[in-house]
Amino acid sequence: MNLLIMGLPGAGKGTQAAKIVEEFGLIHISTGDMFREAIANETEMGKLAKSYMDQGNLVPDEVTNGIVKDRLAKLDVREKGFLLDGFPRTIEQAEALDQILTSLELSLDGVVAIEVNPDSLLERLSGRIIHKETGATYHKVFNPPVDYKEEDYYQREDDKPEAVKRRLEVNIAQSAPILEYYRMAGLVHEINGNQEIAQVSEDIKKVLTNLK
Ligand code: ADP
Ligand code: AMP
Repeated sequence: MNLLIMGLPGAGKGTQAAKIVEEFGLIHISTGDMFREAIANETEMGKLAKSYMDQGNLVPDEVTNGIVKDRLAKLDVREKGFLLDGFPRTIEQAEALDQILTSLELSLDGVVAIEVNPDSLLERLSGRIIHKETGATYHKVFNPPVDYKEEDYYQREDDKPEAVKRRLEVNIAQSAPILEYYRMAGLVHEINGNQEIAQVSEDIKKVLTNLK
């Protein structure tokens, strides 16, 4: 099964993606995670990506499309299926993805679109904390880790207020046309993301069990 998970920053893509890949054995491909890894490894691509990410802007398509293409071309993707998270974020990326999939003889089975009230996103992003060792995402209030120790967690640089504002602007502008693109292809499954994490997971699981 080959899937996309879509939603505004803070909608819960990463949180739900972790559960979906565990349940369905898919390869999780998050462009944001790949960029953060490149930054941590201090690669040239990481340095370039960081200059855009810190401002809340999108990394240029040439770079982003390239890393997605390279990752999708790996054998594990063909064997297990993929869940693409955070890509595409522009119509140009959606078109590039079509070309990449065609060239690799892969196809898309569905798009999980998490719909949330934009007013709740600032609170979600500003309270997001990530476990240093595992990379798992939590929230100080909505999904607090058991045995929380501040030194074991970090906050993302781009979850600070100025970058968040810009990220939401950029993503809100781009998201409607992309969803429409996939709606026309009959691939979209809308999920109400204004519910507790466990309920959102249950709704997604129902949709995906029927798709399998
Ligand atoms: P995304 O990957 O879409 O940017 P995340 O999965 O990282 O979003 O979630 C953003 C923040 O909101 C995290 O701190 C996460 O724990 C929290 N969160 C995710 N889903 C929900 C939800 N349904 N209700 C409340 N908080 C949530
Ligand atoms: P995310 O982890 O999905 O919230 O992404 C964090 C940041 O990485 C974004 O704000 C962008 O700067 C960059 N990024 C992630 N995915 C993409 C993409 N598909 N296109 C361009 N930039 C991206």
